[in-house]
Amino acid sequence: MNAPLPVEVLKQHLIDPEICIRCNTCEETCPVDAITHDANNYVVDPDICNGCMACVPPCPTGSIDNWRLMLRNEAYSVQEQFGWEELPKEKALPQEAADDAAADDATGVDSGVATGAAPNAVSPAFSLPGASVPPWSAAHPYVNLYTHKAPMTATVVGNYRVTGADTESDIHHIVLDFGELPFPVLEGQSIGILPPGVDAQGRPHHARQYSLASPRDGERAGYNNLSLTVKRVTEDHGGAAAHGVCSNYLCDLAKNDTVQVIGPFGHTFLMPNHPRANLIMICTGTGSAPMRAMTERYRRRIDTGDNGRLMLFFGARTERELPYFGPLMKLPRDFIDINLALSREPGQPKRYVQDLIRERAAQVCELLGDRNTCIYVCGLKGMEVGVLDALREVTMQSGQDWSILHDVLRREGRLHFETY
Ligand code: NAP
Repeated sequence: MNAPLPVEVLKQHLIDPEICIRCNTCEETCPVDAITHDANNYVVDPDICNGCMACVPPCPTGSIDNWRLMLRNEAYSVQEQFGWEELPKEKALPQEAADDAAADDATGVDSGVATGAAPNAVSPAFSLPGASVPPWSAAHPYVNLYTHKAPMTATVVGNYRVTGADTESDIHHIVLDFGELPFPVLEGQSIGILPPGVDAQGRPHHARQYSLASPRDGERAGYNNLSLTVKRVTEDHGGAAAHGVCSNYLCDLAKNDTVQVIGPFGHTFLMPNHPRANLIMICTGTGSAPMRAMTERYRRRIDTGDNGRLMLFFGARTERELPYFGPLMKLPRDFIDINLALSREPGQPKRYVQDLIRERAAQVCELLGDRNTCIYVCGLKGMEVGVLDALREVTMQSGQDWSILHDVLRREGRLHFETY
């Protein structure tokens, strides 16, 4: 991917607008701020991108992994890319430049330009808080089976509120059925929903991404369906009134309505498949969706003796705003170790998931010391730093070196983040 090229030829990094689900992961990951976006597209600035590849593994769709050999002075500008609805057709290089590129590729001679990893390129393995590979035993995920051009039609077979009716958090459990058509998924993967209608510019709305809340064999075992956990968005992160286009559309769906679905997406945030693997699951609010999927996978095979230990840290404002509170509390105590961090429960001190990780340091460290343990973090972006700090603190207290353990967890695909 990073072979040296002649001076005038650029291996231009492009994002496929037809596949991209605008999830912002690439922009957040890029260590040199080469990726930006407008209301239409996510794009890569050819003057900044150094081809370090840090953004490629985290992209859930693979839309980021497009490269074109271009004459540098003909590189597609950021402005041009903003206007694209699809990638332009590949242009042939002038013969001389193509010959030079081929010759340099063959000899490995570095002309010093192009997009070969620049001296200041950050190693992808160390620029991410989590792993860019799945656990070694994860099942093979299918991705991009259904696209913007050819979406799947699913039928709503259930839509229930899973938070207290008297609370502000209107969170729904939505079940979609795929009828006779295949839609293979794994716990930890996500799908895209195409909301109907157009945006302020008159363009069709982009897809919105939701994690599966059900395991691979369906919300109802043996049925061709899956579930999502969706919070109705009525305000933005700053608290100002805002109408979430897709979340309101989904929360208002009635039984037998149809929905356009794309995906599945995601090839790293996957659960281990080998016997006696332990899971530490850390989530806030609707970030509980993949944790529900993984827990349900384990619950369905509770009698096989194959399960390892499950430890859950779950943050919400109050018990009544914690999605799935009732069913969660009915799970046997010897099946899952549940730790609820409530931040606004009247009469109780404010607690976040990271506080509980500290309180349960001994048990967390015991699990961290087992190579069969994988850790999953999903929910608010803000908790990423707090959780990493707590994990560092508890490991160091137990006399281990967090920086070494952190690298091992990432390298072995045992620490995964999905935060927004
Ligand atoms: P929320 O209700 O706003 O917050 C949940 C809890 O997290 C609250 O107790 C909150 O405390 C606490 N919290 C706030 N900042 C924190 C921090 N820095 N560290 C630890 N805890 C913190 O959550 P939500 O609205 O459900 O949002 C969940 C997030 O998950 C969203 O960003 C969503 O996009 C994302 N997500 C959703 C899905 C899905 O499939 N639906 C999948 C993946 C991720 P306070 O009382 O201080 O607010």
